[in-house]
Amino acid sequence: MSNASSPSTTHTDIAIIGAGPAGFTAALYASRANLGVVIFEGMQPGGQLTITTEVENYPGFEHGIMGPELMDVMRKQAHRFGAQSRFETITKVDLTQRPFTLWNERNEATTADAIIIATGASAKLLGAKGEDTYMGYGVSACATCDGFFFRDQRVFVIGGGDTAMEEANYLTRFASMVTIVHRRDDFRASKIMLERAHANPKIQFLLNSVVDEYVGTEVNGMKKLTHLAVRNTVTNDVQMIEADGAFVAIGHQPNTSLFSGVLDMDDVGYIRTQPGTSYTNVPGVFASGDAQDSVYRQAITAAGSGCMAAIDAERWLETVRHEAASTQH
Ligand code: NDP
Repeated sequence: MSNASSPSTTHTDIAIIGAGPAGFTAALYASRANLGVVIFEGMQPGGQLTITTEVENYPGFEHGIMGPELMDVMRKQAHRFGAQSRFETITKVDLTQRPFTLWNERNEATTADAIIIATGASAKLLGAKGEDTYMGYGVSACATCDGFFFRDQRVFVIGGGDTAMEEANYLTRFASMVTIVHRRDDFRASKIMLERAHANPKIQFLLNSVVDEYVGTEVNGMKKLTHLAVRNTVTNDVQMIEADGAFVAIGHQPNTSLFSGVLDMDDVGYIRTQPGTSYTNVPGVFASGDAQDSVYRQAITAAGSGCMAAIDAERWLETVRHEAASTQH
């Protein structure tokens, strides 16, 4: 890295925003290509895998690996080749001129010749009353992280897509009964996932229903969810249902608001990349991982797309620098 325009501004060849499988893999490839790499790890270093337990489907780990450990190993592997982590959150970017400028939460600037976006996605929440209060005290957005705590209890899964079906099935390993609460009587979930849920004797359905409020109490100074206020969307009747756990499974939101109005995105906010590449509509800015993938959303596909982004960025930089050098001669 070298100093750029002002003494307080650092410069790097490639700035990577986000530190999940996509960001770390991009950092590994880019630093092995001998480029200066800074990874801005942001608010959730390690990304979504840090809130999972065991990852059984990441190739290379016959007996599985814990999510946080996988992220730690990936970080160390990238650092081994010179990539630097900064535990800062990027709050503003200027992509209108090169080098690009990124500002952290303290308004400190970094300039970069290329940017790889690997900001991932976050689980969407209902926004219903009591959700914040009981989050982590009965309310969760991740069955694999928290299912274990609900052994022999009554849990609810909110949503009607594949995530809801998958989470409900998973939760039957622990819970005495799992109720899927869905706002319609038709499902977005795929047929096979829905059939699997229907066939599971521990799963029941509460359709045309929405959770209006999470209700709870305090036991020995600890908050605890006890009921859900569930409204029938047809009759508008509200009933208080006893609940030990509520898992919100209504989809994910890509963490891309930083780039809205600048980068092309779909209606939901997933960054559009040119088919088969990581190129965005701004030359020099590449996107990888869940920030641009609404379909696969797996650690391995995120890692693969991080690799693509690093290779695309490296080749793009080489071309741009070569052209700049030839115009100078
Ligand atoms: P989806 O967008 O497919 O489904 C979200 C569900 O949540 C819908 O049923 C939707 O209802 C409901 N919902 C959304 N907002 C609200 C709200 N505010 N209140 C109540 N309900 C709400 O998201 P998923 O996460 O389920 O799936 C995303 C993608 O990932 C899909 O392509 C899916 O196939 C894939 N996936 C695949 C898996 C697998 O194959 N193993 C596992 C998990 C996901 P409505 O239908 O009325 O809009």
